[in-house]
Amino acid sequence: MKLHTNYSLKDYNTFGIEAYAKEFVAVQSVNELKQVLQENKGKKLFILGGGSNMLLTKDIDALVLHINIKGISVISESDTHVNIQAMAGENWHEFVLHCINNNYGGLENLSLIPGNVGTTPIQNIGAYGTEIKDTFVSCNALNIETLETDTFTKDDCEFAYRESIFKGKLKGKYIITSVTFKLTKTDHKINTAYGDITEKLIDNGIIVATIKDVSNAVIAIRQSKLPDPKELGNSGSFFKNPIVPKTIFDKIQSKHPLMPYYVVSETEVKVPAGWLIEQSGFKGKRFGDAGVHSKQALVLVNYGNATGQEILNLSHKIQETVFNNFGIHIENEVNII
Ligand SMILES: Cc1cc2nc3c(=O)[nH]c(=O)nc-3n(C[C@H](O)[C@H](O)[C@H](O)COP(=O)(O)OP(=O)(O)OC[C@H]3O[C@@H](n4cnc5c(N)ncnc54)[C@H](O)[C@@H]3O)c2cc1C
Repeated sequence: MKLHTNYSLKDYNTFGIEAYAKEFVAVQSVNELKQVLQENKGKKLFILGGGSNMLLTKDIDALVLHINIKGISVISESDTHVNIQAMAGENWHEFVLHCINNNYGGLENLSLIPGNVGTTPIQNIGAYGTEIKDTFVSCNALNIETLETDTFTKDDCEFAYRESIFKGKLKGKYIITSVTFKLTKTDHKINTAYGDITEKLIDNGIIVATIKDVSNAVIAIRQSKLPDPKELGNSGSFFKNPIVPKTIFDKIQSKHPLMPYYVVSETEVKVPAGWLIEQSGFKGKRFGDAGVHSKQALVLVNYGNATGQEILNLSHKIQETVFNNFGIHIENEVNII
């Protein structure tokens, strides 16, 4: 375990932004993590997973702890279900593939989301009609102050759309070290209702889909729509889809009858932020090396040498224009550092 100083984070964030950590250490086990925390008590800390949900706008004046703890184990199983635990540093997509290869169902719609397992509860990652809260059992997390491990159940986590207690009142207080999911071994609940999954399966000549078929369809759809961070720096959806009160939505819709929406409840409606951004004229636009992706307006991209500040400025310009056009504030999904 080597502690580096003035360490480049360019290869540790999917936006590919050049920024430096004052200090950096990668930990491979919970014991190493405790040791580093003990030896560096009082220092400002910054927790880094796969770096796929952050925009670095400056150097990090802290000790960066890169959580690289690996391991996957079955905790318990019955004829129909398995409780499987993955350590925080496991790559999420590889873990999903591991589950599919073992015929464990429930995570297939979340295929190809970048980042690490330990970060998935933080914003309750979701895609194609599924969120991790649907299969989440519990996570273990180290209290940074006491170095005790606490277990958080689904209820404890207060999951909501791209939200959890770890983004709210426990922000900065815990380091998640492992997550346990309850997955199906038989009677998988195949969910193809969202996005283009059904169309993709039909294109592939599949009538009765397996979890592997759904995963393959999701992977193909994502690859056709989202830029690969290895080729074009990005952090996925930069903004959350805004949820607006129905009364306000009705007023906006009377002026913009083509606005797409999903009903969330009797009183709330979710509007696709990508549509609002596209209608505001930003899709495919480039400002220096910062830009808006040509296929998905929700994704901001780094064409090579954009600074985090340039991408942040672009995000502000988008928020302002969308607000002026529609009266809707779109919030960041990405963590601004
Ligand atoms: C191309 C692309 C597509 C994406 N698609 C989706 C999508 O469909 N759905 C979706 O929900 N997200 C999506 N994302 C966002 C991202 O993949 C997820 O939010 C992912 O869970 C982030 O994981 P990470 O390990 O990279 O987090 P990081 O970026 O490393 O960290 C994110 C935040 O969590 C904190 N953190 C990291 N690890 C820990 C830990 N172990 N304990 C406590 N705090 C920690 C960090 O300090 C930071 O504040 C996408 C991103 C990209 C680049």
